[in-house]
Amino acid sequence: MIDTAHLLQPTSFPALNRGVLETLQVNLGYRCNLSCVHCHVNAGPKRTEEMDRETIDLVLQFLQSHQLKTLDLTGGAPELNTNFRFLVESAVQMGVHVIDRSNLTILLEESQEGLAEFLASQQVEIVASLPCYLEENVDSQRGKGTYHNSIEALKMLNSLGYGKPDSPLRLNLVYNPVGPNLPPPQGPLEADYKKQLNERFGIQFNQLFTITNMPIQRFGSLLQSKGQFQDYLQLLRDAYQHENLDGVMCRQLLSVDWQGYVYDCDFNQMLKIPLGNESRVRPHLRDLVSVDLTDAPIRVAEHCFGCTAGQGSSCGGALDG
Ligand code: SF4
Ligand code: SF4
Repeated sequence: MIDTAHLLQPTSFPALNRGVLETLQVNLGYRCNLSCVHCHVNAGPKRTEEMDRETIDLVLQFLQSHQLKTLDLTGGAPELNTNFRFLVESAVQMGVHVIDRSNLTILLEESQEGLAEFLASQQVEIVASLPCYLEENVDSQRGKGTYHNSIEALKMLNSLGYGKPDSPLRLNLVYNPVGPNLPPPQGPLEADYKKQLNERFGIQFNQLFTITNMPIQRFGSLLQSKGQFQDYLQLLRDAYQHENLDGVMCRQLLSVDWQGYVYDCDFNQMLKIPLGNESRVRPHLRDLVSVDLTDAPIRVAEHCFGCTAGQGSSCGGALDG
């Protein structure tokens, strides 16, 4: 894989400061049952990195001390972490809303029996990636058979009450472009997804989040190998919308890696750009249990234009929606 981190500095992206912290986004490890082309964490079945129990206890301590409302779990496939169910149950008992960023197909893995029922019992919100409602596009990005398994998993979730109009069980889908383009407008695409998935499979869901691909890790490397990296970066810069700046997710979210080190967002985590100043000391969650991060400066670089381009992009989809 070609490293693109050195191509993202210097930057003309505006200086940013943190707002009030609301969400702790925790990467539970890089193991995944899939190896998607666009994966910005470079996850896959052979990765072994996994958050240990001691760090998970620290996550719970941090949630409590900062009185956070939301715990957002990512990976890899977060469900593959040995302590996943313990963490979810403990956070829910503390009154924290838990989001599971699921690739859907994990729900069908033999080793994960009862996972969907467990998530429903804890009222975990599921944010599931489905890069297209067409089989060909999903399988080209995520691997052959992924579409079929994703549809089966969505049906299973619907049968438990997920995504139904009057149900508290939220099921949101995530779209990201297959190639080096910005996502289309979120509203009309959501309407298309709802129509297609309902007509073809009777599937229902709550919202569609469109997310811009970041020029980092596997997708950045792909752009580099095709000679498209600089053009894509220029596309993001040219589409800059100042009104999206206030809503970028790093203003109210903190990202934690599998070892407990802390970053402004998941993308900075992947680029190994730690929170805070440029000193060599990487801040760890244990150092921040009692620290108020409001107004702290955010580490920006050229990839940040991916968050402000066009309709904007965050882990909750478009910013202008
Ligand atoms: S499912 Fe998600 S974490 Fe797993 S390889 Fe694909 S993009 Fe990466
Ligand atoms: S890439 Fe990260 S640090 Fe940059 S604007 Fe987006 S969320 Fe903020």
